Amino acid sequence: MDVTAIRRDFPILNRQIHGQPLVYLDNAATTHKPRPVLEAMMAFCRDSYGNAHRGAHTLSDEAGAAYEDARERVRRFIHAAAAREIVFTRGTTESINLVADSFGRRFVEAGDEILVTTMEHHSNIVPWQVLGERTGAVLKSVPLDDDGHLQLDQLEGLITERTRLMAVTCVSNVTGVVNDLGHIVRLAHERNVPVLVDGAQAVQHMPVDVQALDCDFFAFSGHKMYADTGIGILYGKEKWLEAMPPYQTGGGMIDRVRFDHTSFAELPYKFEAGTGNVVAAVSLAAAIDYLEGIGLDKIAAHEQQLMAYATVRITALDGVRLYGRDEGRCGALSFNLENIHPFDVGAILDELGIAVRTGAHCAEPLMDHFGVAGMIRASLAVYNTPAEIDRLLDGLQRARAMLAPDLSVRRGAYNAG
Ligand code: PMP
Repeated sequence: MDVTAIRRDFPILNRQIHGQPLVYLDNAATTHKPRPVLEAMMAFCRDSYGNAHRGAHTLSDEAGAAYEDARERVRRFIHAAAAREIVFTRGTTESINLVADSFGRRFVEAGDEILVTTMEHHSNIVPWQVLGERTGAVLKSVPLDDDGHLQLDQLEGLITERTRLMAVTCVSNVTGVVNDLGHIVRLAHERNVPVLVDGAQAVQHMPVDVQALDCDFFAFSGHKMYADTGIGILYGKEKWLEAMPPYQTGGGMIDRVRFDHTSFAELPYKFEAGTGNVVAAVSLAAAIDYLEGIGLDKIAAHEQQLMAYATVRITALDGVRLYGRDEGRCGALSFNLENIHPFDVGAILDELGIAVRTGAHCAEPLMDHFGVAGMIRASLAVYNTPAEIDRLLDGLQRARAMLAPDLSVRRGAYNAG
């Protein structure tokens, strides 16, 4: 993989921040857009823009065709059986809210249980908690070990005959831990419990096959995989989506409307009320083309190499605490520097042109598990390089020298770097 050529595809990487070349290591929050994605959005807006599925004129037809083309590309990208199983949403958050609301209304009652894990992003906790408050269902959570990995030996005991659904992330947005979804789905299915997978931190880093995984729902966001904001996907097995009531109602999701009765459109339109984000859908199709053009296997290999390098270099810092075990870490790496607040480090790094995320990363139960208020997170994308990791390390050394001079780096080899 030619990273130099790939970097040329991303105009924003030429930006200077505070007079320094940008080092963008906040890719788990959102990724940047390559030229083919920007151009596809521009060309669609310039030449073909219209409201999808709303009118019998050429521009509307073209918009509708672009929207459905994007759906088909998503289907192929995650290897779903049918385009009817691909619902456009605003993002992962809305996809999960859709299931919590709609599946919840049809299948969840007082005394039932929903199982999540302690490493989930808030958007895979709070919708289930609110469902519990509405229905009287109980939220349970798979605990973590000292390294922040799921205690899978507890899973069997946590699934009961009242468990209605399990919701679990594929990859932690904090520690980069990759969960053993094959094992989890198998165990849940043995007890007839459907599984929702939060794929927000997975699809940009590894090939995904929802049929091989056999998950019941799979949610992800366009903006974390080089597409625009405002577009996300909910994949759902047809048998579930058919059985679930509409989430939002209005235009586009109906079959026939009368004051005494309204019938709803077929899948996936039943779940797509209102005007969809066609421009973002076009961007998503272009982003998928871009990712597949490079090859997800090659992207994964590049990012794994970079992650190994970043792990070695960060581990070599004195007084650093890295969260999660090193093997298999994907995309994100989080740590703290002894006696230094992560926010202060983030501010100094920004002065140096380096973008990382600091704080609780929308995962407060995980922060509580580790007993910290926040962490520093560096997260990788296809365009990152070892030289950028070196800049990060120089920045961390500078930050520590300023914020905790007595703890500043003592290792000779490290000082030389
Ligand atoms: N789940 C995970 C694991 C995430 O990392 C994120 C975004 N940080 C979300 C869900 C929510 O995604 P969005 O904000 O795009 O809806």
